[in-house]
Amino acid sequence: MQTIKTDLVILGGGIAGLWLLNRAQQQGFDALLLETGDLGGAQSVRSQGIIHGGTKYALNGVLTQASSSIADMPSRWRACLQGRGELDLSAARILSEAHYMWSKASLGAKMTSFFASKALKGRVEAISAEERPQVFNDPQFRGNLYKLNEIVLDVPSVIEALTKPVLQRIVKVTADDVRVCATQGSIAAIQLPQVHIEAQRYITTAGEGTEALLQQLNIEQPQMQRRPLHMVMVRHASVLPTFAHCISSGSKPVVTITTHPTIDGEQVWYLGGNLAETGVNLTPQQQIEKAQKLIAELLPWINLKNPRWASLHINRAEPKQSSLTRPDSAFAQAQQNSIISWPTKLALAPDLADQILTLLQHQAISPQYRADTTIIDHLPRPDIAQPVWETLFC
Ligand SMILES: Cc1cc2nc3c(=O)[nH]c(=O)nc-3n(C[C@H](O)[C@H](O)[C@H](O)COP(=O)(O)OP(=O)(O)OC[C@H]3O[C@@H](n4cnc5c(N)ncnc54)[C@H](O)[C@@H]3O)c2cc1C
Repeated sequence: MQTIKTDLVILGGGIAGLWLLNRAQQQGFDALLLETGDLGGAQSVRSQGIIHGGTKYALNGVLTQASSSIADMPSRWRACLQGRGELDLSAARILSEAHYMWSKASLGAKMTSFFASKALKGRVEAISAEERPQVFNDPQFRGNLYKLNEIVLDVPSVIEALTKPVLQRIVKVTADDVRVCATQGSIAAIQLPQVHIEAQRYITTAGEGTEALLQQLNIEQPQMQRRPLHMVMVRHASVLPTFAHCISSGSKPVVTITTHPTIDGEQVWYLGGNLAETGVNLTPQQQIEKAQKLIAELLPWINLKNPRWASLHINRAEPKQSSLTRPDSAFAQAQQNSIISWPTKLALAPDLADQILTLLQHQAISPQYRADTTIIDHLPRPDIAQPVWETLFC
């Protein structure tokens, strides 16, 4: 049995774990990331890839904490995508430079003046008829259209860009192989079949898998909540990139559409928003029919070429809130020698890494180890996850 001593063990290689691993390495920490599946393989590559700036949380006409804590994220990500930010994401692919927000009919005067208000300046821009994306360029379109300062990313390419510089520090494990040796919430070591890993701190970024880790560690607080979604996909042969929330009188988008290219040159419209939140108890057939009706009602002039429909049940994993409400910001909490964390949004991964690095600083954890790379080099590496539309329609 070989022993590795390192500064940090990160459990889970979605957006949160990978962002953290890169930032921690930059700060001189020796860190190892253990992943039980494929990198980004749970929520991250199944997300819509929108780098929210908080505007969708202001749909009731009020800027909540959710909308203000996330406001910096688009500019931080943009800097990274341009290769001048805290991490280099210049190899990642931007699907759209902007996300849009449209209403079916004209918005009330209150919302129109809220979107034009100083509070949302720089985040929301009204769009003239000439500037409309193709999907809204039809005489039948009657509503208002706004452009949001939010990019939409091809998440697998982000995962790839984050993995490349740190691949040697990532190890593929199976859930059965990993034994967390702990007493009363304090981790003594992580035991793999042939390697014993000891770290100064153990950080969970395992998304939904964090719940099982909390149970293993006998940690009662924080708890995790799942917010289930029933997403819909329509794969088609039209060239009609669409990135938009449709808003109505409620505080949540009726539907959020993002568009993702497939390997064979088709496109997939990925439909979330309230459609996904309220369709959780519907069968795939019922949910697809609901989505078809909604699209026909909202965009009646659109006829997609050769459309094929599918749906996907997936949970968002987050720290538990009272009455299953949405958490406002990234979450990181120290528990003895662990840090339990959830980014709660892909967009908030930079904020989560800040919070974790600050916690380490407060606990006077500084770089101390240099793990024996000859041991690590022999361990298997995980793959990067495939987008769900590459597997679901086969
Ligand atoms: C349908 C959908 C759409 C979304 N759209 C957006 C969006 O447009 N914008 C946005 O900002 N956010 C969005 N989100 C939220 C966002 O995707 C998540 O908040 C974010 O991806 C969570 O990242 P993560 O790294 O914590 O978790 P995950 O991506 O779930 O990664 C966790 C990783 O941990 C691994 N793992 C599990 N258990 C263990 C273990 N015991 N040991 C080691 N590894 C383990 C898993 O295999 C997985 O790879 C969306 C979420 C969903 C579900």
